[in-house]
Amino acid sequence: MMSQQNEAGRFLGEDESRPYHVHQAVVDSPFVMISDHAGRMVPEKLGDLGLPRDEWDRHIAYDIGIQEVGRHLQQALGCLLVEQVYSRLVIDCNRAAGHPTSIPPVSDGAPVQGNQGLSAAERQQREDAILHAYHDEIERHLARRKLDETLFVSLHSFTPAMQDGQARPWHIGLLHDHDPHSARLMRELLEDEGDLCVGDNQPYVLNVQNEYSVPYHAGRRNLPALEIEIRQDLISDEAGQRLWAERLARLLPLFWEKRKDHM
Ligand SMILES: [Zn+2]
Repeated sequence: MMSQQNEAGRFLGEDESRPYHVHQAVVDSPFVMISDHAGRMVPEKLGDLGLPRDEWDRHIAYDIGIQEVGRHLQQALGCLLVEQVYSRLVIDCNRAAGHPTSIPPVSDGAPVQGNQGLSAAERQQREDAILHAYHDEIERHLARRKLDETLFVSLHSFTPAMQDGQARPWHIGLLHDHDPHSARLMRELLEDEGDLCVGDNQPYVLNVQNEYSVPYHAGRRNLPALEIEIRQDLISDEAGQRLWAERLARLLPLFWEKRKDHM
């Protein structure tokens, strides 16, 4: 373990950010929130990965708007939030180590030169310093909790249009695999709002093949979980970010009460 930390220490310089940012709970809350794609930092050692500046503003680098939504939501609920600070282009923390898109050589048509032709040791460095460090931190928090009073919440955002330009109609999507029950209860609450198109395993399907965080932390423990995807054009500015955080801060406690009634 020590040698791993030393290795990680060399990969991330002394003055560089740790791979995760923890916003500690300030109240006794059932909610454990994570944000796999919140940040878009790159370790100094990797430069710009050979990617032009404007590509770093796109969804391929991070989940636009979700860091701010997560932080407002954390403030409102007072719960734990663990954020990933490095770009998904360095290593995607919602993919298992070794997954074909873990360190993408090409992302949405853009070649990522700094990710091409990596040695096993170079991959391992990113896995140890970022992927495993982040998930180990989440594990440490879960290990200290009463799991029958815990809801695991994973926050993401999605692009308003598909690659072929087709618009995505959903304002918000709930992805689920091991816990369709929670997704259904939350979907009902969101639909009761009256102004939302809510995706059911849309725009993506959650499963152990294409995702990591929810299956690894929650699926394995059969822990109640919600994976929330918000459309990026709705949370691209401060007003939208606050609005969505307020909405979720109102609905999540209602959800949790409702879930206890429907065990
Ligand atoms: Zn994401």
